[in-house]
Amino acid sequence: MQLLFDGYTEEEYEAGTVFCVGRNYVEHAEELGQEVPQDPIVFVKPANALRHGSYNLIEYPPLTHELHFEGELVLLLRGGGRNIHAYGPADVIAGYAVGLDLTMRDLQSEAKRKGLPWMISKGFDGAAQVSHFIPFESSPPFEELGFSLWVNDELRQRATTNQMIFSPEMLLPYISRVCSVRAGDLLFTGTPQGVGPLQVDDKIVMQLHTTNPEEVLLDFHAQVTEWQ
Ligand code: MG
Repeated sequence: MQLLFDGYTEEEYEAGTVFCVGRNYVEHAEELGQEVPQDPIVFVKPANALRHGSYNLIEYPPLTHELHFEGELVLLLRGGGRNIHAYGPADVIAGYAVGLDLTMRDLQSEAKRKGLPWMISKGFDGAAQVSHFIPFESSPPFEELGFSLWVNDELRQRATTNQMIFSPEMLLPYISRVCSVRAGDLLFTGTPQGVGPLQVDDKIVMQLHTTNPEEVLLDFHAQVTEWQ
């Protein structure tokens, strides 16, 4: 699968590793009844999970009764390799998007209880939804970004990057100590409070914006359908 800069540049990236950060907002950790982490909680999603576009379908997976949306800011990475330190953001970050870290919460909770991996609960087909990207060069600085998520026209999540516990400047050195970062890798930066269940036919809208929600940088639309 390839990732495209929709309507902005000719640049395109073949999708690589989908890195995700868990519990990167204090109030989301609290709403799940979890401790605020001392170190980043990092996991990955497999290639089958990725869906890229502006108008996406979300198939409701058959194993769950509790499919949760987690709206997140997503970084498209340009590379960097191992042991990224003191980098210039333009050397590592190729663009910004919004996305959904879809989670079968009932299965994930059971996996957490049993100390088992999250792969099935967060790695099913379509579990990593990501919008088109705005190129780094056309975007306001990371510190001035925010996003919002609506389900059926009701605002459910809104956050700005200054609410994150771990910034990319902290996450990328942490991850790249042992995982090489390559062009086309994605970094889901965690979800703020407000996660919740989805039902078939629900319509999701996300917007990437500045710290002012009216300064919209891009839109993402998705609709939940039956599993095919
Ligand atoms: Mg998440």
